[in-house]
Amino acid sequence: MSSSDLNINIYIVDDELEQVEMLIEMLRLAGFNAQGYILATNFIEQNITENDIVVLDLNMPTMDGIEVMRTLHDKACKPDYLLMSGFDERVLHSAKQFAEAKQLSVKEVFTKPLDTMRFLKLIGELYQEKKRALQPLSRGYGEAKKNMPKADASLTLDELRQAIKEQQFVLFYQPKIDLISGQLLGLEALIRLKHPEKGLITPNQFIPLAEQNILISQLTGEVINNLVNDYPEFVKAGLTPQVSINISAQDLMDLTMPERFASLLKLAGISPEWITIELTESAILSSVSDSLDILNRLRMKGFQLSIDDFGTGHSSLVQLYQAPFNELKIDQHFVMRMMQDDEAMSIVKICILLAKELRMKAVAEGIEDQVTLNKLKELGCNVGQGYLMSRPLPLEDICDWVKTHHK
Ligand code: C2E
Ligand code: MG
Ligand code: MG
Repeated sequence: MSSSDLNINIYIVDDELEQVEMLIEMLRLAGFNAQGYILATNFIEQNITENDIVVLDLNMPTMDGIEVMRTLHDKACKPDYLLMSGFDERVLHSAKQFAEAKQLSVKEVFTKPLDTMRFLKLIGELYQEKKRALQPLSRGYGEAKKNMPKADASLTLDELRQAIKEQQFVLFYQPKIDLISGQLLGLEALIRLKHPEKGLITPNQFIPLAEQNILISQLTGEVINNLVNDYPEFVKAGLTPQVSINISAQDLMDLTMPERFASLLKLAGISPEWITIELTESAILSSVSDSLDILNRLRMKGFQLSIDDFGTGHSSLVQLYQAPFNELKIDQHFVMRMMQDDEAMSIVKICILLAKELRMKAVAEGIEDQVTLNKLKELGCNVGQGYLMSRPLPLEDICDWVKTHHK
């Protein structure tokens, strides 16, 4: 089957005529449906779909590659991109970051002169991937999919309010591990909504909605309630784990929060020393003076404080220095890419050094393979979480996991 039967078009957009002609010739010989443009302004007039592959030169005189991607994004056209440039790797890298921020799909970046063998191999792989996605699902898979709970279904505000009223939330727990000894150091509690029809819904589907509608403190209340209910189960299983909970900027607007948290936990016999409170850089920024007031009192009550998703926000070093954090969590975005991407690796190294200088514990999140884990240990980051060790699990399963892995 040729690419034209499946409506997969490959567009080459480059101001160098010779390059365009050479690539088109090569792709057509290989059986692909390819078209070339030396003027980006003509190219963007085409009807480009998500099935298409756009091979895009970044430096073109009338309209550069970034502008092309932005224009197509604004027109809701989302093809796959392969980027090319005569500039150095850094330019390509930062163009890729731009595309990722806009959630565009950049499959590969190429420096010029183009390595044509690598280029053709990649086009072939991409084409196969698209072909599989375009072909009708086999019956078995379709049936199985129909019966699956609709995870990640988005939620309406009414549904969210109802869920809070009916206490439809549960906590999943992900182990935090000493990377040297393999010992369990704690558990991070991650909220899920167990919707009666839509199934299990992850936080990214409802936290933003809760934030926009000032429902966060109620949601955080649910987290504390759940933790208070779950904790005795840990104790029954012979554990008194450190548990991390996540809070949002809105929680830092309520000056009574430290006292409320501490007394709710105390009633349940949970010591603040067992609890780490995680918050992101942007949460602290929204109200610096109140945040510092609350954060200091939380620490004085014995809670541990962790700065989450570090590296993605805009906190200045001064704020990091001022706030009484014990722990710095390196964002998973960098950890997942560090073995393939030099800049992600540099950021991970800087985070580890910074944590050390400021006497905080560095924690890597998003560890998915052994090679990354080994490298983190080598860099001096000795604590981590990730699918390699365990995904977040419901209460019963995490108790079993701990029993099997950490007798
Ligand atoms: P986070 O606190 O940075 O949590 C880490 C997220 O990464 C979790 O997603 C976890 O399931 C996922 N994760 C952990 N290890 C890996 C890995 O190796 N690979 C990959 N791909 N992912 C991994 P989750 O549970 O969907 O939570 C997303 C975010 O929602 C959390 O990011 C946190 O910011 C927020 N959140 C979760 N629970 C709560 C909560 O109770 N309250 C508030 N305010 N926010 C919460
Ligand atoms: Mg977290
Ligand atoms: Mg995180």
